Amino acid sequence: MAKRGFDASQDHDDAVPEPSRKTTYFCSAQQCRLPGTIRGVCNHHWVGATYDWPRITQVLNDMAPLIAEINRARATLCSEASNQREAVSGHVQGQARIEQYLSADQLAYMTVKPAKTYETWVYRLEVLVTAAVQMVMKTRRTPADVNHPAYRDRVRAAQIPGQAADFINEGGLSV
Ligand SMILES: [Zn+2]
Repeated sequence: MAKRGFDASQDHDDAVPEPSRKTTYFCSAQQCRLPGTIRGVCNHHWVGATYDWPRITQVLNDMAPLIAEINRARATLCSEASNQREAVSGHVQGQARIEQYLSADQLAYMTVKPAKTYETWVYRLEVLVTAAVQMVMKTRRTPADVNHPAYRDRVRAAQIPGQAADFINEGGLSV
């Protein structure tokens, strides 16, 4: 009878422990520096098909100063420990910091009717980033795309009796 089970010769007590890896929450698309908030990827990579990912990453890297401002605004607006003056009027200095990185069209969008609050201002920055990403995106993933994780979830749920209805009731496909 074949021997089964644990092979003691494979046990290496003296093995050097692996260095602990720092946990990060960055988007798992290569070299993307945004938080991976949806299944480990950022919202931009989430909606793009994987063959568009390098182009999307390139746009996001090119817009790094804007993304730094977006992250800064999120941190400031979401923490009670942040500087209150900055939380109210951070967009004034923010605008001065990013102007050199904006095209004429982008600058007009930001300044023709200037945003009155930090929240509105940073929302507009996000619009600029999203618009630039969509320019390079050939196709958007949809739930109908069989490679889309939401589609895989629907198939998986449909295979488990009683779960498909719950899943659909919860609006599990909204992306
Ligand atoms: Zn990303």
